[in-house]
Amino acid sequence: MADAEKVIIIGSGPAAWTAAIYAARANLEPLVFEGAITEENSTAGTLPLGQLNLTTEVENYPGFPAGNLEAYLDDAIDADIRAMMSPHAKEGVSGPELMQLMRQQAKNFGTRVITEDVVSVDFGRHPFQLTASDEKTYAALAVIVATGARANYLGLPSEAAFKNRGVSACAVCDGALPRFRNRPLVVIGGGDSAVEEADYLSKFASTVYMIHRRDELRASKIMAQRALDNPKIEVLWSRTLTEVLGDEAAGVTGVRLASTKGEADLEKEASGVFLAIGHTPNTAFLGGQLELTEKKYVRWTRPGRTETSVEGVFASGDVADDYYRQAVTAAGTGCMAALDAERWLAAKGFH
Ligand SMILES: Cc1cc2nc3c(=O)[nH]c(=O)nc-3n(C[C@H](O)[C@H](O)[C@H](O)COP(=O)(O)OP(=O)(O)OC[C@H]3O[C@@H](n4cnc5c(N)ncnc54)[C@H](O)[C@@H]3O)c2cc1C
Repeated sequence: MADAEKVIIIGSGPAAWTAAIYAARANLEPLVFEGAITEENSTAGTLPLGQLNLTTEVENYPGFPAGNLEAYLDDAIDADIRAMMSPHAKEGVSGPELMQLMRQQAKNFGTRVITEDVVSVDFGRHPFQLTASDEKTYAALAVIVATGARANYLGLPSEAAFKNRGVSACAVCDGALPRFRNRPLVVIGGGDSAVEEADYLSKFASTVYMIHRRDELRASKIMAQRALDNPKIEVLWSRTLTEVLGDEAAGVTGVRLASTKGEADLEKEASGVFLAIGHTPNTAFLGGQLELTEKKYVRWTRPGRTETSVEGVFASGDVADDYYRQAVTAAGTGCMAALDAERWLAAKGFH
């Protein structure tokens, strides 16, 4: 095993790259594990570059107003990577473009990147030990966990076929896109976040159908009432989504719903289907060595800081945040984690 790294960052979304930019500029020479390119990660939605790499337009990340970025992308990103990217298609920045820009920025300051998963950790001794999918073990004085969370989908083939063409798992991210305006939309789920998504979408949609498999919402009373009181939200009780309907040109055009009470199938016209059936944080590889919340997110142990239950291990982004779940907030806590790590290393005399 080589000498211990000053800081190892695990993940490859906005949190990880921001942490890397700050750590690199503080001379911590960060090593990033960006995840492995495997069939398993592809199916799970955890390929390198994170959740934004799975989407199209990003209209709410500051600094990228509508405009043609073609020349900037050509200039900013290493030619070999740029040659593999899809052509810049629209005004403003796309998720994959934004992620490549962040990765490039981190690399420009000397960040080293390994395209492997971290599969297990030993935080019981210091330097911390991390084992990667290349079966090598790496040592680190400080670790930043930025492995994100993945949105849960139902797993229907038609749902996968229309991802980014009407099927989404993030109303705040996608709800304001032109294709959803003044159109009927569907939200799948019955918990608090489903109500939040439906309520948010009702600002843009003509009608929001909430599809719930039971005859009562799982959401808290106050949230359920908010849905029931909203004239633009119609709850379709005891129904499950069996197929997303659509075509090549238009994307999503409707949904087919089965009944959990033996009634006939129902079809509804809709331009969008928003999944609100929860997220799964990518924390299994931690093997219980960091304290997690009930929903299995990493627990930040000090308010306003990125510290975890193990001194010297910090967490940033969606892996520790089940509330905001935005690229800019992930980047924000990535910055915080790098500063927290740097200060901790300095206080311990490691740096
Ligand atoms: C469809 C969709 C559209 C969205 N649109 C927007 C939007 O328009 N604007 C916005 O602000 N937000 C949007 N979001 C939310 C945004 O993508 C997330 O909030 C953000 O990406 C979280 O960043 P993160 O750095 O925490 O981690 P993630 O983006 O979740 O990335 C973490 C990555 O780390 C890697 N990883 C995981 N485990 C390991 C491991 N063990 N070892 C090594 N690497 C690992 C994986 O590659 C994983 O994908 C969208 C989300 C979705 C699903």
